[in-house]
Amino acid sequence: MQQRSGWHRLLGNRNWSHEQYLAAVLSLEVSSREASGSLIRVKGAGFDSVKSLEDFNYDFQSAAPRDVIAHLATGAYLQEGRNIVLLCPPGTGKTHLATALGVKACGQGHRVLFASATTWVTRLTTSYRAGTLTKDLAKLRRYPLLIVDEVGYIPFETEAVNLFFQLVSSRYEHASLILTIDLPFSGWGEVFGNHVVASAMIDRIVHHAEVITLKGSSYRLKNTNTTLPSEKQENKAQ
Ligand code: ADP
Ligand code: MG
Repeated sequence: MQQRSGWHRLLGNRNWSHEQYLAAVLSLEVSSREASGSLIRVKGAGFDSVKSLEDFNYDFQSAAPRDVIAHLATGAYLQEGRNIVLLCPPGTGKTHLATALGVKACGQGHRVLFASATTWVTRLTTSYRAGTLTKDLAKLRRYPLLIVDEVGYIPFETEAVNLFFQLVSSRYEHASLILTIDLPFSGWGEVFGNHVVASAMIDRIVHHAEVITLKGSSYRLKNTNTTLPSEKQENKAQ
């Protein structure tokens, strides 16, 4: 109990609910000696909310390759600078899985940064305009894992595409990325507005990557009768 209140202090003003804090503690699976460092890394990673692999319900998401995800949870991909791409429709657990793998990495001693694609682009644009992009990319390379959530939501401007490409290139074969995106690779040209850059980017990302494709309907809507437009299209195609 003493230890737990110590951790609570470490998490400080993160505004986590008691459940989120508990989820972080439980999903780290580390000894109490290592726990404070791990929790500081979880806090520093900037996850929207803490998720664990243990809470991922495979009964609902039967397309999820359990063995692949279990292997990724060992963190071996981080030693080789391999990437993970989660390509799935909305609500199928991309952010959950990306976050849970990020939390595991924190527990294994790795520094992690999580942000949406839009936030990453804003950060890179700010560095570029301040003339500090090279320095910022070098700083980011010291993080073994960056998570880029929601890549497909906003079509990127040309400058943003080039900056994102530089991020991907600077990490290629050095450090890992986890990307989540709602679109298949064929839709990336549209998101990045430039098929040449999109192809070069996909090439670097997937050269050493696990690509996980989930299917099915949104977990958010599981207790309702709602069908998303993307699912209607999927049903019609079958
Ligand atoms: P996506 O990023 O694919 O849109 P999320 O990962 O944000 O979806 O999932 C939406 C919500 O549903 C989250 O609260 C997440 O924890 C939960 N969720 C999604 N899939 C599962 C699952 N298979 N098991 C447990 N919770 C899930
Ligand atoms: Mg998401």
